[in-house]
Amino acid sequence: MTSRWVVLKFGGTSVASARNWGRIAARVTELHAEGKRVWIVASALSQVSNRLEQAVEEALGNREPASLGWIQGRHIELAGEIGLSVTAYEPVKELLEELGQLLEGVRLTREASPRLHARIMSFGELASTQLGIAALGHHGLHGQRVDARDLLISTEVDGQQPADRFVQAQVDPVRNVLAAEAASDACSLVLTQGFIARTPRGETCLLGRGGSDTSAALFAHLIGAESLEIWTDVHGMFSTDPRQLPTARLIRQISYREAQELAAMGAKVLHPRCLGPAAEGGIPIEIRNTMDPEARGTRIGPSLSDDAAVMAVVMREGVTLLNISTLRMWGTPGFLAKVFAPFAELGISVDLVATSQSAVSVTLDGVPGGTGGEPFRRLEERLKLLGEVTTREDTAVVSIVGRRIRTVLHKLGPAFAVFREHEVHLVSESSEDLNVSFVVGQQDARTLVDRLHDQLLPKQGSDELFGPSWELLTSKQRRIETAEAPKPWWHARQAELLDLVSDGQSRYVYDLATVRAQAHGLRQHLTAVGGLYYAMKANWNAEVLRTIAAEGLGIECVSAAEIKLVRELLGDAIPILFTPNFCPLDEYAVAFEHGADVTLDGPHLIDLAPELFRGRELGVRVDPGGGLGHHEKVVTAGAQAKFGHPVADVAEVVRAAAEVGATVTGLHSHVGSGILDPDSWGRTLQGLLAVRDQLPDLRWIDVGGGLGVVERAGQQALDLAAVNLRLAELAAELGDIELRMEPGRYLVSEGGVLLAPVTQVRRKGEVRFVGLATGMNSLIRPALYGAWHGIHNLSRLDADPDGYWHVVGPICETGDVLGRDRLLPSTEAGDVLLIENAGAYGRVMASRYNLREPAAEVVLTV
Ligand code: ADP
Ligand code: ASP
Ligand code: MG
Repeated sequence: MTSRWVVLKFGGTSVASARNWGRIAARVTELHAEGKRVWIVASALSQVSNRLEQAVEEALGNREPASLGWIQGRHIELAGEIGLSVTAYEPVKELLEELGQLLEGVRLTREASPRLHARIMSFGELASTQLGIAALGHHGLHGQRVDARDLLISTEVDGQQPADRFVQAQVDPVRNVLAAEAASDACSLVLTQGFIARTPRGETCLLGRGGSDTSAALFAHLIGAESLEIWTDVHGMFSTDPRQLPTARLIRQISYREAQELAAMGAKVLHPRCLGPAAEGGIPIEIRNTMDPEARGTRIGPSLSDDAAVMAVVMREGVTLLNISTLRMWGTPGFLAKVFAPFAELGISVDLVATSQSAVSVTLDGVPGGTGGEPFRRLEERLKLLGEVTTREDTAVVSIVGRRIRTVLHKLGPAFAVFREHEVHLVSESSEDLNVSFVVGQQDARTLVDRLHDQLLPKQGSDELFGPSWELLTSKQRRIETAEAPKPWWHARQAELLDLVSDGQSRYVYDLATVRAQAHGLRQHLTAVGGLYYAMKANWNAEVLRTIAAEGLGIECVSAAEIKLVRELLGDAIPILFTPNFCPLDEYAVAFEHGADVTLDGPHLIDLAPELFRGRELGVRVDPGGGLGHHEKVVTAGAQAKFGHPVADVAEVVRAAAEVGATVTGLHSHVGSGILDPDSWGRTLQGLLAVRDQLPDLRWIDVGGGLGVVERAGQQALDLAAVNLRLAELAAELGDIELRMEPGRYLVSEGGVLLAPVTQVRRKGEVRFVGLATGMNSLIRPALYGAWHGIHNLSRLDADPDGYWHVVGPICETGDVLGRDRLLPSTEAGDVLLIENAGAYGRVMASRYNLREPAAEVVLTV
């Protein structure tokens, strides 16, 4: 047989359903029709390798063998889906029984050597290929199941830890077409396992987690395949993990070296070791999506372009940072050699390095035995002889990967602003000019990747390097998947809403039922809170105020005019909290006159107008330091914020009050806005309780508002029950002091939308714009805070998006952009766009800038 082989590798998700085996069969049939022979390398069913690791842990701990049960169930389920007969299932059953026996051995001896561990892990791939050969048979494809261990033999590497020989084995690419021919029995379809190989002594070993890609490249080299296709659950390599950031762009074409860099720096879609054998054999690789087999993926081959470019922003978690510093060694020759010697001897590989005259910092990615293990302990011991050693485990490496990255450093300028809030422990630039990496705290890594990606990678336009984004590639599928998910209120009212703006004017529309439901939810969940005050600055529409008041909330006001409006609309009985900031003094008089609880920002006010405050009950707003929020402009605490008196100096207010016969009966604090961390208010309360001894007359404590709502996909809604729990835990310390909160956005944001007719659409170069009848004159939040509002084409709710658009208004300001790079369907003048979450800080912040009237308000009462 002379026709050439094509190697197809299918990952965990790709082999986990009968439907996918149908897709695999279709690809084989296609290639056979082109006269090609097909060599398939399969992974274990998705999650099975993880479960095997857990099964070992369970056996070692003599725990319930839940994972083994799960694994057996998973295989039986797939066998059923494929329609396997009992006889055909028998070999799988035997394998799983053998697995059970090995695990039982581990349980009895409470020992799992790396050798045994490798054997146990190999069952994932052994079983999946057993099911696979039967599945292909059902599609009329009769292939040969080859044991990968007969063809891939590991090499022993100097200094390699014994454990690594079994679980991180290295296999050198060899060309041995004859052996493969013999194993394939001259047939045109082979199915073999990824991940597993044999040591020269004949024991089962593994190529490291995710190593099936490397198996595939090794087989491709071995049989001199003409190409290698890696079939997985995404379309290819993306500019960042598409499941974390849906705006990730598909990389159409890159070189082996660049792909290796990306994989090594964190693009988990490929095992970094697979690029070597493919490059050595000159075998082109294509990554493709099993679930979308028609789509083009990423092609990897020899270098094609030398154009400088940022290609991706990726991250690796679980990195250990080690710092060795000494002044004794200053300038001594051979210091570096001494530092690195123990790493080599103990088989611990170093990842990033930064050096100074007297210190060396390195990162370690995967220490054999972990940082609790023997090799690491010995490493520390050895290094301590050289200088002071410090270790940080909770770090991550964020890397900007590209081509000739030094020449694009200037582009990083604005992106570097993101480091304002993130401490960087180490910066390194690769000597090959392929990446710049930052070691940061693990908790900061995700946001950092998102922000750097946002700033460095283009969202629009398509070229040699970048194809569509993940969200664009999958939008149709997502729409089908989310068809059943609950929709926001406005979905059901599409026709009615379109009618409201048929005159071409923009409108704010409020749905009172949603506002009522939010208020009700707060009352129901926040049982630890005695006084809920609606921060009416968020939206003072009369109907909105009435709705919230009817749910039993008080009102928080920040100006005399707000107080007067409340009394006029809602009467004298409703409680008012007055928390102004730098306001004219006569407004305090208005507040007292209307029976409001009044809060001061500091003792300076009493000094300014002692008579105004004489004999009064006063609240004091304190600044606990720190501060939280969705943008620096909404963080209301910390040294530079204009609000509140330092909490440590609260006694100064008590003293100033006493001098005018006033008492401090309230303590208030508000740290910021749009907060989704449920612990925030409990923390504030704890801080405030620390000073309560200095306030003998205290009647109430207000822990502020700032309760956030979900504004974009992927955010976790605020867990009100958790908020309440944290507050309730401190209830005993409160005694009869009333706990208060003052939510604004939470009550009204989701109940309001801005409807804006499209006046024009245009393309300028690669960029498309949708122009609306209104812009920052109606909704200033995007321009002011960079706030993100979901934007939808209300006229075409069911249409699939066709690409990215900048959504802009008619105001003569570059910043008049309501949304940048928004995924929208093909949009035309006359359509109506809907801007979500516009009920809070929308109309109330509007202006007549450019003498353009902002959108008027419409209230839906039913
Ligand atoms: P398989 O089981 O098919 O080998 P993997 O789970 O190993 O699949 O790899 C595919 C996953 O890699 C994707 O689902 C994706 O979430 C993740 N991934 C991480 N970074 C990237 C990236 N830069 N490009 C593409 N995928 C990535
Ligand atoms: N099944 C192995 C793992 O999950 C190998 C692979 O899928 O690439 O790590
Ligand atoms: Mg993989």
